[in-house]
Amino acid sequence: MFRAEDIRKDFPILNREVNGNPLIYLDNAATSQTPQQVIDTIVDYYSNYNANIHRGVHTLSQEATDKYEQARLKIQAHFHAKHAHEIILTSGTTHSINIVASGFTSLLNEGDEIIVSALEHHSNIVPWQMLCERTGAILKVIPMNQDGELLMEAYHGLLSEKTKLVFVNHISNALGTINPIEHIIEKAHQIGAAVLIDGAQACPHIKIDVQKLDVDFYVASAHKMCGPTGVGMLYGKEALLKELPPYQGGGEMIAEVTFEKTTYADLPHKFEAGTPNICGGIAFGAAIDYMNAIGIDTIAAYENELLEYATKKLLEIEGLKIYGTSKRKTSVISFNLEGVHPYDVGTILDKLGIAVRTGHHCAQPIMNFYNIPGTVRASFSFYNTKNEIDALIDGVKKAQRMLS
Ligand SMILES: *Cc1c(COP(=O)(O)O)cnc(C)c1O
Repeated sequence: MFRAEDIRKDFPILNREVNGNPLIYLDNAATSQTPQQVIDTIVDYYSNYNANIHRGVHTLSQEATDKYEQARLKIQAHFHAKHAHEIILTSGTTHSINIVASGFTSLLNEGDEIIVSALEHHSNIVPWQMLCERTGAILKVIPMNQDGELLMEAYHGLLSEKTKLVFVNHISNALGTINPIEHIIEKAHQIGAAVLIDGAQACPHIKIDVQKLDVDFYVASAHKMCGPTGVGMLYGKEALLKELPPYQGGGEMIAEVTFEKTTYADLPHKFEAGTPNICGGIAFGAAIDYMNAIGIDTIAAYENELLEYATKKLLEIEGLKIYGTSKRKTSVISFNLEGVHPYDVGTILDKLGIAVRTGHHCAQPIMNFYNIPGTVRASFSFYNTKNEIDALIDGVKKAQRMLS
């Protein structure tokens, strides 16, 4: 049976103190903590087989190449991609999105339309704005309601034969809303537009099947799912990845180079110029193994319990408002205390050893929608406990007494 108390033993960082108090880490939507199993993988790589991949005939290089390609297969299996070469290893979600946005430069014409949503992370807004500047394409935005849900009627109204691309996050990092991506994908495909889903926030909580979703591109970062920073993935359907031009030129991504003409390597290497984060890729595979050993459904069920418990307790605090009240949510709670700046709440919580996020969470348009400078965001992982939520509640009450 799943017990968070047992799981916590896998995470050495959870033993540390902050400002004289035991660390209570509730900033999982920004980055998740790393279990010993993944740390061991990183140490093993640098202790035993650190070498450049795909190049050397020597033993270390072959070992590193094998492990790196095994990690790709783990990622392929986890996301249920049809082919291993549809998984491009990148430095993270932001890098993955930029590969697609850059690639579409040559595929768009002036007046074509790109649809994004009001719930996006900046990394899923800015690359498209830059793409529009390069191509003369027009950015359209699916609006949201007070609960933090996208308005599907409005989305239908935006779709037309001009629409070439739709970009939506699976789960909002700022509010926790789970977007109806199945519906969004289906509708986009009816008019022949391609869809990219930003799964950075979904992968830690939901099992993803890219074939079942029939999604064209899906992107994620390892560091939000128990892996290291600086590595992530771009899934793309084979046909689309073949059509997209390479993002960066360099070693590894070529088939043949002369000064007259260079031909590009096959997938996935076409998009993997230069020496990649080899250790990170291998550790990404270890993180996936770790999460699957617990079971994503088990994780999701437990995190939902934490979400319900924390939501109920927080709402008992007078003058506290939660932003993002969709019925379909993951374990992210954005809130404010009436008349109090979120930054001040975060500072007091930190004194108590409680790590939360404060600010706009890289999603300023959402904050503008609610007309607030930012929120306090507590986001839970499967290694958090109800005791920790109780400590958060006490901390918020203390902050309220001190600040109002
Ligand atoms: C974290 C996050 C990103 C950015 O991920 P990076 O790892 O910083 O590239 C993008 N979108 C969402 C929804 C996120 O939560």
